[in-house]
This record gives sequence, structure tokens and C-alpha cells, in this order.
Amino acid sequence: MNVNQSAPPVPPFGQPQPVYPGYHQSSYGGQSGSTAPPTPCGSYNGPVPGYQQTPHPGVSRAPPSGALPSSTAQVPCGQGAYGQFGQGDVQNGPSSTVQMQRFPGSQPFGSAPLAPVVSQPTVLQPYGPPPTSAQVTAQLAGMQISGAVASAPHPSGLGYGPPTSLASASGSFPNSGLYGSYPQGQAPPLSQAQGHSGAHPPQRSAPQQASSFTPPASGGPRMPSVTGPLLQGQSFGGPPVSQPNHVSSPPPQALHPGTQMTGPPGPPPPMHSSQQPGYQLQQNGSFGPARGPQPNYGSPYPGAPPFSSQSGPQPLPPKRLDPDAIPSPIQVIEDDRNNRGSEPFVTGVRGQVPPLVTTNFLVKDQGNASPRYIRCTSYNIPCTSDMAKQAQVPLAAVIKPLAKLPPEEVSPYIVDHGESGPLRCNRCKAYMCPFMQFIEGGRRFQCCFCSCINDVPPQYFQHLDHTGKRVDAYDRPELYLGSYEFLATVDYCKNNKFPSPPAFIFMIDVSYNAIRSGLVRLLCEELKSLVDFLPREGGAEESAIRVGFVTYNKVLHFYNVKSSLAQPQMMVVSDVADMFVPLLDGFLVNVNESRAVITSLLDQIPEMFADTRETETVFAPVIQAGMEALKAAECAGKLFLFHTSLPIAEAPGKLKNRDDRKLINTDKEKTLFQPQTGVYQTLAKECVAQGCCVDLFLFPNQYVDVATLSVVPQLTGGSVYKYACFQVENDQERFVSDLRRDVQKVVGFDAVMRVRTSTGIRAVDFFGAFYMSNTTDVELAGLDGDKTVTVEFKHDDRLNEENGALLQCALLYTSCAGQRRLRIHNLALNCCTQLADLYRNCETDTLINYMAKFAYRGVLNSPVKTVRDTLITQCAQILACYRKNCASPSSAGQLILPECMKLLPVYLNCVLKSDVLQPGAEVTTDDRAYVRVLVTSMDVAETNVFFYPRLLPLTKSPIESTTEPPAVRASEERLSNGDIYLLENGLNLFIWVGASVQQGVVQSLFSVSSFSQITSGLSILPVLDNPLSKKVRGLIDSLRAQRSRYMKLIVVKQEDKLEMLFKHFLVEDKSLSGGASYVDFLCHMHKEIRQLLS
Ligand SMILES: [Zn+2]
Repeated sequence: MNVNQSAPPVPPFGQPQPVYPGYHQSSYGGQSGSTAPPTPCGSYNGPVPGYQQTPHPGVSRAPPSGALPSSTAQVPCGQGAYGQFGQGDVQNGPSSTVQMQRFPGSQPFGSAPLAPVVSQPTVLQPYGPPPTSAQVTAQLAGMQISGAVASAPHPSGLGYGPPTSLASASGSFPNSGLYGSYPQGQAPPLSQAQGHSGAHPPQRSAPQQASSFTPPASGGPRMPSVTGPLLQGQSFGGPPVSQPNHVSSPPPQALHPGTQMTGPPGPPPPMHSSQQPGYQLQQNGSFGPARGPQPNYGSPYPGAPPFSSQSGPQPLPPKRLDPDAIPSPIQVIEDDRNNRGSEPFVTGVRGQVPPLVTTNFLVKDQGNASPRYIRCTSYNIPCTSDMAKQAQVPLAAVIKPLAKLPPEEVSPYIVDHGESGPLRCNRCKAYMCPFMQFIEGGRRFQCCFCSCINDVPPQYFQHLDHTGKRVDAYDRPELYLGSYEFLATVDYCKNNKFPSPPAFIFMIDVSYNAIRSGLVRLLCEELKSLVDFLPREGGAEESAIRVGFVTYNKVLHFYNVKSSLAQPQMMVVSDVADMFVPLLDGFLVNVNESRAVITSLLDQIPEMFADTRETETVFAPVIQAGMEALKAAECAGKLFLFHTSLPIAEAPGKLKNRDDRKLINTDKEKTLFQPQTGVYQTLAKECVAQGCCVDLFLFPNQYVDVATLSVVPQLTGGSVYKYACFQVENDQERFVSDLRRDVQKVVGFDAVMRVRTSTGIRAVDFFGAFYMSNTTDVELAGLDGDKTVTVEFKHDDRLNEENGALLQCALLYTSCAGQRRLRIHNLALNCCTQLADLYRNCETDTLINYMAKFAYRGVLNSPVKTVRDTLITQCAQILACYRKNCASPSSAGQLILPECMKLLPVYLNCVLKSDVLQPGAEVTTDDRAYVRVLVTSMDVAETNVFFYPRLLPLTKSPIESTTEPPAVRASEERLSNGDIYLLENGLNLFIWVGASVQQGVVQSLFSVSSFSQITSGLSILPVLDNPLSKKVRGLIDSLRAQRSRYMKLIVVKQEDKLEMLFKHFLVEDKSLSGGASYVDFLCHMHKEIRQLLS
């Protein structure tokens, strides 16, 4: 089914009118709601006032741009490359290298403790592919696994068809994992075709005054390294070497640090003659005087000191860029909160830039989709492709179609157009929306996307008022709101049949590792209650979702949990090469009906496998089995896989350990991100066709090849969670919390998303967790409220300022109750003929989201260094274009940034030094693959905090203050050793304790009498009855509630070994892996820009 499908001919039935009653629709509620009397359909004879060119509702143009606000910073360039600090040997996350011992053969788990056996003959009801080889079933009644089943060897080899390596459709296959690695041979890289499209940096909008923070060309204490004067040609970051971009020899003048900044364009002044005595500290200043050298950075950058290379007179007093004088993320975030947090964001005006994602604000839908659903890199896009190419600002939208709204906002209303289905343009198939223009007295409408004139069906007819607007415009959500839903007709359903409610299948690895870590027992215990919290629709009493259970190691065990059974029954399928589902009846059941049997099963599973010696697992056959089960039940659904190890057992999708850290920084590094076999792409395609979404929970003790295992979750819209070296005592809270959230979240199944645009631009590239079999339809076996799809647009014609540009995102999906619906989001953007307008309406956070995804996909095909260089070049081009075309004339020595892009350099630098693009020694191959997958589906708020973590001082603000303490910049320099800080990035959470913290504070928070007694690595704060303890624990709870994944706490002490972990997140500083500090990167960026301009 696809969204474009043409609507069926509209039969003249007098169907229940599309009536969209006044909108009081309850969130989903079906079509309940107040039933405002349907507007009577006028017959076709309304007055036909000639056309009235009505302005698009709520569309108004932004004021013409005047001078652009901009920030100017003068950054000293050049600087000797500084060496690296020693590599940390610390592991991210509690490092545990548990070595699993392997047991020789696998043993059939014959030992079935268990309850009384219900003598239920095992029922074998094979369906689906005929069980070629007989499978036996064991009864688990009372669960005894009686005989395991031997399966006759399958005549034909294994498998799923040739492991073809699919060239990935345009989608990206994300793979990735969080922290952990293990060496080994490597496997043949899979070729994945993934196009790189140019990426550009985004920026934020809000034309405000140009904050020109003119960084002092010279003066200013340089941050970390205190002393040395700036060196010339510094290569920022990392190992000086690679990074051509940086190396590019700077023009002679660039060599003089202080100089180039302020220096007049002319001939390079020999030195920093032009230093300005006092430069103004702009924006940031709040943090007081820059501190001295940072503890750990004892000596100035090695390599830097001698100014030898410096030509010209010796630099005098070291003039450095003052960290307080460069744009501060904290300040920008604070300003936006103060300026835009109090008023609701009303979406009636075209091209309005929304508040930042870090600002709390309410949204009122008046014709454009809320920024919670769609955010754009720019809200004013160039009219021509030439302009767009010149600016290099990527035009992209980050779309989160099923985003969860805060309780104060109303979920999209559901509109029922009856049997005729949603009203659409006959030509381009766009759905009725507020921008469609009714003409000829309301008898026809002109499509706002393709200009086609369409007849209005009789049952939809309505008169127009004197402005040309339909008199019922405010009774119909599709005529005045940016977001709404349509009930889909049977024509929008697979095989022309309304779908059955979806099913959830829990598939549990019961191999040795899973049992030993306590995972299986914990999981089964949790599932007993969790099955009562499956997603429900509206006010439904109980969930319509059915559940099923499978356990596996080298073979699969299916369970019959039919309500009429006294005890569950187990059926074993050992022919994993030709997977089939051994039972139909009793496999997928209603929780309430089968509760006793389900509980019994979950009680028995940990016991049944308690003594297992089986260490090997299969993986692809498990997914295959789940998918086949859904197919047999003729429904969509989700598989929850709980898996521990590299699947090395003989079976389709068998993997080998191909981890090889030696590939880092080589041309073959990309193979680490590619799946090692094509089996999983093939399998994923089958899953997508069935509407089978796969969520994967990994519990590895060593390399599991996240890059390959995550292929199916990625292509089916699923999620991946990774708990390295899982131990119940340490990880229970995190896992259970993630599991609960994951199982309960609302999901749309068997979905297809299509983004239409008005003539002039079109969607050309897509990023996220989905599959594409053509160039326009994004297929999602499942889509939850956390997932985003990023879409890039390119011009295919000229746009004009009057009409602007329109986007319409249509998502066809099956709700958790089995209802087929279409969710529509519309957004109107402005178009400009002046580049300045583009630069004033950008959103940097969204640009970074796009650029990160672009880069993270790029590593599948290109050397990581190339990817980094591409980002840097694009960023420089964007800023150079601004400088050339929009900024007022000024000295070339000044770095001038557009106001809404002033954070682009600092944020881009964070992306460049992220684990995927510049891994530290402690980051494993699986970690990188994991992070890559996560970022691919992140929304703008998530990428914002992920790349630039929040650092909050805990003891600075008054204890009674109820608001979150103001953040400080993520730099060691901002830490005071007399304070305690909390740092979070959406995945990690730290508390850093300064060595000189008052004893009273230590006592209040940790219940010990001195700093030295605090346990480093602590993950739970003691529950103490004092204001500070309550406040800090409350803050942690609130931060966790804001994030989509549970953040495990790690307490780190100043100067302690674990501190290295924490410092990894101080992103304004130079990183151990060679990533540049913010100041150095800004200097480098300035140099790049100057080169482009010269
Ligand atoms: Zn059209």
C-alpha cells in the first residue's frame, strides 16, 4: 500500500460525511468527539464568485531583510600543532572484560526441572513452510522439555537464498553500538551503496541583532595552554598529520596568529600589530575570568611553543582568543529561553523559525505542523538552485511523524471522509490541506503542490465566504490545521483487507551467557507484569495487541500459551536452516485470556534452562521465525529480541568475528560499519513486506558485530539497545527501564511515508531507520514516537517568493488497535532571492542533526577522514558565502558569523570528534556502530544534547531553588574543584565531584565524611533525607524522564582514574583522540574561510 495510491473513484454514496465535527476529538478516540452538525453539503449551485485569489490562510511573509545580524569574531589563527595526550586506557562504561568460557559441545538441555507435566500431547501444527524435516516438540507442560527434536538434516543447504548483498536502497543502514570492542579477523566487507550527498551546516534562526562578538584579534588569554603565543598554522585537533584541510598551507599571513584576526586585509601584517587592547567580551561572559591552566593539561601543547615558524617580530604578550569571547552555546540557549519561552509558538505564519529545541514552549497549530513534528534547516529557502549551491546550506527537514506531544497540546484530530476516503489532488495525490485553494464558488480547488484544478466531490462541497475561504473552514481540521489524521479506507490496506491488530513476540536468548548474567530470570520476571502495559488506543480497556514467546540458543523453542491449556507447551525447531513456525493456534494470544499460562511459562523458562551449557546462538533464524509467525497470523507486529553473542552456530546469518582495530584510519575502516553478510538485508526486506518491526536488546560480553546485527532493526524502523557486560546487579535498573518504555510506546505499524513538495523542490535523500524500494516511499515496518526521518530537498525548478514552498508529509500506518490511518503534516516555508534572508532564518541545531546523519552514513562508503574533511569544507563554504555576500565589509582578519549560525563551528566540531568520526582508544568497534545507528534516528533535541552535553553545577544555586541550575560550558576550565557537577548527553550521566568540595556537601550527598571516602564509579546515590540529596536525586529523575533512554549514573571524582571517561564529554576541550578544542577549531575554520575568500 502506498501513500500515493490513487484514491478510488469516489462513489456517490452518501456516506457518513467527512464531517469533521468541531474538533474536540479526543486524541484518538476514533471519531468520537463532539459532533458538531455536519455542514450540509450545498448542492452545486453556490454562487460562483469568480475566483477569488485568496491568500493562503495564515501565510504572511516575513519582513524583508535588512542588514543581517551577524556575529563577528576575530580569531587568531595559526598555532602550532599540539601533541596528544596519552591515550586513556579507561573504558567507557564499567569495563569488564568478562571472558566467557566456552563449553565444549552444546548440550541439549534435557534437564527439565519443572512442574508437573500436563500430559498434553504435543501438538504439532506446522503451517507455513512445510516442515520438511520433522520437528519434534517437547512439551513443556509442567514444562518438561521432553525430547528435543531432532530434525532431519535439511537436504538442501541452508537457507534463505543467496546471501546477496543488497545494495542499499537509498536508505542508510545504520549500524552501531555503544561502547566495547574485541579484536579478530575481519570479514569481507559488504558493499553498500550509499550516496553521499553534500551536507551543509545548519544554523539557527531568529534574526536578532547581530551579535558581533568580535573576538579580540589578539589579546585574550588563550584557554588551556596558557602561555605560548599563538603559533602559526596550527593544525587543530588530532594528530597533526592527516586532515589535509587543516594542513593546507595557510596563506602567509595566516601564519601570524594575532595578526590575521584583526589585521586589515591588505598585506599580512607581520605580526599581531593589530591587536586590540580590549576586546569586548560578548555574549558569554558570564563565567567570570578565564581560569588558569587546566590541571591536566600541564604543559602547553607540545609542539607549539617555539614560535620559530613564526615570521615577523616576536609575538609579544601572548594574545589568544578568549574563550569567553567566542559564541557560547549556553548563552544562546539561555537567551532563547528568555526571549521565546514565555509565549506560545503559533504556527499561522509562513516561514517562522521556531524557538530552539532547548526552550520549553507551547505550540498552537494554526495551519503549519508543530516544530515537534517537523524542523527545517532553514525556513526561508533560496528561489534558485544557483543560490542554494552558492550558499551550500543544506535544505532539509527532520520529521518525527508520531512525535509525542506534551499534555497541554492536542493530538491530531482524526477526520473521516467516509467511503470515498481522504480527498486528494487527482494529479499529485497530495492530501487536502489548508493551502489548497477553493475556486469557482467552492466547486473546484487548485492544488497548492502541482497547481492542478480538481473538482470538489459533491459531498465535500461548501460555499465560500467573501474572502474565498470555505465557510466550514474551521470545522474541518484538514482546512485549518497543520497536522491531522484521516481514517484510511480499505483501499489503503494490504490486499484490500483491513488489518488485524498487531502482535508482539518476545524472543529470548537462553544460551549460557544469558542465563549466567541473570538476564533471563530478570527478563521473565519483568515480562509477567509488562504484558499488562502493552500500548492501547485511546480509552480502550485493554490492548488489542496479542503476544507470543520464543526462546532460543542454537535451536528455537516455540510456546503454546493457549488459554485452555493448564500449562504451556514447548515445541522445538532445530532445523534452523529452514525455519517454520510449528504452531499457529495458541502461539499469539490475548494476554488477559492466557494470563495464567503466560505467567506459568515465564516462571518456568529460567528454571528450564538454568543448567544449560549451550553457548552458541543463531540470530537470523530467530527473526525469520518471528516474521513467519506474523505472516501466518496475517498481522503486522514487533519482535523484541534479547540477544547476547555473536551468532556463530551453523545457520543462515552465521557471523564471524571480524573486528579489527587496525583498520581505523585506513581506507578499509568503512568495512567496520558495513554488515558482513547480505543475509540480513534480504531478511529485513521480507520483514518490511510483512510489517514486522524488530527491536534488538544486546547484552554482549565481547564483540557481537553490531554493524551486522543492527541491519534488520534499522531497516524495519526498530530500535537497538546495548548493555555491554550486563550484570543484573549493575544494569537491572537501566535495562528494565528501557524495556518498559520500549514495550509501552505507541507504534505505528506497516507504515509508508511520503513527502510531497510544491513545484520547484523535491525530496532527494532520506536518513533514518527505514527501508526504501523506490526513490520516494519511505517504508517503515514500524515507527514509534521517538524516531525521526530526515529528508533533504533539492531544487528542480525555480521557486518564487510569493508562493513560498510547501511540504506535506503523509504517513500511512496501522495503529496499535489495528486501525488504518493517514497522518498528515503540512509546512509552508518562505523563499528568498537574497542570501541574507536564508542566513537569517536558519536553525543550527537542525543543520547539525542533518550533518551528523549525513556524515554517519558517509562512513559506510568513504574513509572517515574524507567524511570529516567534507564536513569542514562545507561548513567553511557556508560561512564564507555569508561573509562574502551578507556581511558588511570588514577586515579579513575578522571572523564574522551569521547570528543564527554562530554556534555552527562549536557544534560541528563536536560532531567531528564524536566516537564515530574520531574514536578514542577506549571506544570499541561495536560502540561506534551502535552510536551510528542511534544518531541516525535521533531528533534535533537528542542530537543537540548528544553532541554538546549539558553540564550543570549542583551546589552553586540556592538549595531552595526549584529550577534547573543554569548550565555551564562543557570545558574543564569551567569546573571548580569546590563544586559538584552533573553532566548528561541523553545516553550518559555523570556526577563529577571536585576535590575541595565542602565536607558538609559530601556528607549530604554521599553519606560519607570526606572526599576520599566517596566510591568512585558509584551508580546510585544514597537516599538521604536532606534538601541537597533530594534536590540532586530529583534533578536526575527529571533528566531521565526527558530522555528516551535510561541514563545510568557514574560518579567520578576529580583526579580519579575514571575522570578520563568524564572528560571525554567536555567537548570544548581538546580530546584525547585528537579532536580539536573549540578555540582551535574556530581558528581553523577562520583560516578555511579566509582561503575560500581569497
Ligand atoms: Zn496536486
